[in-house]
Amino acid sequence: MASVLPTEEGNVAVVVRVRPQNQQEREGSRHAVVQVIDDGMLVFDPEEPCLSGAFAGFRAHDAPRRKGKDLKFVFDRVFGESATQEEVFQHTTKEILDGVLNGYNCSVFAYGATGAGKTYTMLGSETSPGIMYLTMVELYKRIEARKEEKTCEVLISYQEVYNEQIHDLLEPKGPLAIREDPEKGVVVQGLSFHQPKSAEQLLEMLASGNKNRTQHPTDANATSSRSHAVFQIYVKQQDRVVGITQDLQVAKMSLIDLAGSERASTTNTKGERLREGANINRSLLALINVINALADAKSRKSHIPYRDSKLTRLLKDSLGGNCRTVMIAAISPSALAYEDTYNTLRYANRAKEI
Ligand code: ADP
Ligand code: MG
Repeated sequence: MASVLPTEEGNVAVVVRVRPQNQQEREGSRHAVVQVIDDGMLVFDPEEPCLSGAFAGFRAHDAPRRKGKDLKFVFDRVFGESATQEEVFQHTTKEILDGVLNGYNCSVFAYGATGAGKTYTMLGSETSPGIMYLTMVELYKRIEARKEEKTCEVLISYQEVYNEQIHDLLEPKGPLAIREDPEKGVVVQGLSFHQPKSAEQLLEMLASGNKNRTQHPTDANATSSRSHAVFQIYVKQQDRVVGITQDLQVAKMSLIDLAGSERASTTNTKGERLREGANINRSLLALINVINALADAKSRKSHIPYRDSKLTRLLKDSLGGNCRTVMIAAISPSALAYEDTYNTLRYANRAKEI
């Protein structure tokens, strides 16, 4: 029998999405610091500033030439400001859905500073739902198409890792414990599972779950910037024709809206482990370290520090090995976000080496 070969070890695709500038940014700065060249390349801090607004189209000859870093970055895909939710979905998650239907765990992360567009990409808005929703719609379509051959059960869960505690976003209660089950893999005790009856119901669940994310009473603008939202889709399949070997497959896809990376951004030299500072998000650092360890070919067989945080323990069976991972690095093109964007691009560039 022909079988689908597992993908290469620790297969990670890295894409970048540049969000549009908001009104304040357009008014406040004359040039964008990110220039998308094509669907695989961008330039950070280009030598010739990309002028916009009243300055577009001409530049005084004696104007001082702004010296930029002018760094070219190549990624598996680059999405410019005008990319739609559907396009981002098509070229990221849709491609790994096959993996899930073939029994492999997959994960999709949105990485980036607060305000860079992570939640927009993963959750989206009412009028323009993001990857979490589009993935479910596509999954239902594919299951419907093969319902003659397979029975399929789909369950979802939505949880938050905040301050090294796990909380159920769909049925909020006290913090939940993780354990590793030899058969079921990673299990979060007491986590609720749901079977949305329709696309509308799913949208409602995602929106209400998101409202349950931790907010800082003192800092309304930093809503959820320190929490990781983990949406998981479990797919259980069984052949309809009962043969001698009945094939039961269980796989899960994890879609993660990570905490803001701004506090984790340090000058992280290759291979060096990031140290945890007073304000640094431990789970985010641990995830970066796990991905760096996977990226380092030599350490592949040695220690991958999954146990260092709740998030990495939770995702232990969804990273590395046969799991396919997509990292979506979200960035703002505004000069106001210069450092954050630079750090995110450098990190994403490093993750590409896996
Ligand atoms: P993050 O979750 O990374 O902190 P958000 O997703 O909340 O950032 O995005 C910050 C703001 O920018 C929000 O108002 C959001 O609606 C807007 N935004 C982000 N990405 C896009 C996009 N691709 N198109 C339009 N608006 C966007
Ligand atoms: Mg967000």
